Amino acid sequence: MKYIFITGGVMSGLGKGITAASIGRLLKNRGYQVTAVKIDPYLNIDAGTMNPAQHGEVFVLHDGGEVDLDLGNYERFLDIELNSSHNITTGKVYRMVIEKERRGDYLGKTVQIIPHITDQIKDCIRSASEEPVYEGKPADICIVEVGGTVGDIESMPFLEAVRQMRSELAISDRALVHVTLMPSDSMGDLKTKPTQHSIKALRELGLFTDIIVGRSERPLNSHTRKKLSSLCDIPQKGIISAATIPDIYQVPMELEKEGLAEVLCQLLKLEKDEADREWYRVVTREYTHRVTVAIISKYGKEDVYLSIKEALKHAGRKLSTEVSIRWLDAERVDPSDLRECDGVLIPGGFGVRGINGKIDAIRLCREEKIPLLGLCLGFQLSVVEYARNVLGISDACSSEWGEGTPVITILPEQEGVENLGGSMRLGDFPVYISSDTTAYKLYRQREIIERHRHRYEVDPAYVSRLEEAGLIFSGRNKDRMEIAEMIGHPFFFTTQFHPEFRSRPTRPSPPFIGFVEACLIKRGEGE
Ligand code: GLN
Repeated sequence: MKYIFITGGVMSGLGKGITAASIGRLLKNRGYQVTAVKIDPYLNIDAGTMNPAQHGEVFVLHDGGEVDLDLGNYERFLDIELNSSHNITTGKVYRMVIEKERRGDYLGKTVQIIPHITDQIKDCIRSASEEPVYEGKPADICIVEVGGTVGDIESMPFLEAVRQMRSELAISDRALVHVTLMPSDSMGDLKTKPTQHSIKALRELGLFTDIIVGRSERPLNSHTRKKLSSLCDIPQKGIISAATIPDIYQVPMELEKEGLAEVLCQLLKLEKDEADREWYRVVTREYTHRVTVAIISKYGKEDVYLSIKEALKHAGRKLSTEVSIRWLDAERVDPSDLRECDGVLIPGGFGVRGINGKIDAIRLCREEKIPLLGLCLGFQLSVVEYARNVLGISDACSSEWGEGTPVITILPEQEGVENLGGSMRLGDFPVYISSDTTAYKLYRQREIIERHRHRYEVDPAYVSRLEEAGLIFSGRNKDRMEIAEMIGHPFFFTTQFHPEFRSRPTRPSPPFIGFVEACLIKRGEGE
């Protein structure tokens, strides 16, 4: 197994995850099998209990792991399925060590950060990298992204573990890539000083950088490259310019042009040339159409809905359609804004805030035949809206947030659950699809697998009344309703699961394809 360690300098939010994922894609294009591990130095066991407004979306893995959104980028760029072990947090590592200590595994020794925490980190990285993610076989190369910024107290044990791992590995089995910011001054000149400092901080920790990826608004010029090369002891071809570009899926191409993959291949003694250009073909397909989709959101931040944004892009590329998103605040939805859009998407969510705006939007879509895609909470609210305005149960609600007649109720196995972390209905579950439905037209399969993250469900007591009134549950898992669609509407499709998590650029999610197609038809541009 070869390891590529990725660290970050100067500040967070530089696109280290996209750089890591893009490196993986470049090596995959050369025919290598690549996996990835993300280290998050926070004390939370996982991202499940974290507020997405602060940390971005909680990504859900097939095994139910609730993880950092970078794992979503890895899955999309590498086209693999990762599991919970691929996201290592300080919380997880300390819990393992403390459990061992309580069992007496340390045989009376004083348990310390070095060596016990660092050994545990190394074990976690090694065992995650060996997971058989390629049809039962492990990958050839593992990318290990150390979250946070060099110099943070929280990342120290992880950087120490990386230092130890590097010295335990053969030289051709490891490389260190440092992703850093090159800010520009008022004259527009790129400044290297912050990068010099972070390279110095790494050296003090015993870590020697092989490649610098400089994130900047404009490409690095040869003067800056030379300067960095001599001051940081890195050959010039190891200084890679990564200027901001509009589409993340084109980052691999830019890094390829910069020679990043070539340098890595030399370092790691990898001999295969780039052979697979399918990815480039898919992500550069020309746009000939354009649609505008409204997302009714509760949080202002777009990162909260990252996988949804990406899934829309994937479906759009497949249909040569550029999808523009209009973010509408759930607490202030104006019907005229909705009417200007070609379709409306109601994403998942928790709690009561913004519920009424979302229900009003669903009603408008239902009555005015505007394409609607509802996900998780969006599915539950489409059922509540139908119950209120078609069945006439005026106080219909969900027991999560309402006090009237609950048509959405807690899953039986969730009653009495006290710990909120990792306890929802999470991850992959099969969904059985009825024939002659929109669901079947989209998936062309009777049994599908999709990812879940919820605590509430449609109360089975209302299912037959809703169906008689025209809201059909075309996907189910036993008594659990998974897909709702409306008879006589061009596209009213809502799912209890989250199809966005399995969407890939090369394999867009069927409900998203159906939705974008319906938006095109509404605009008079589809077939
Ligand atoms: N709050 C709802 C539930 O827990 C929906 C969850 C979601 O949208 N992810 O069932």
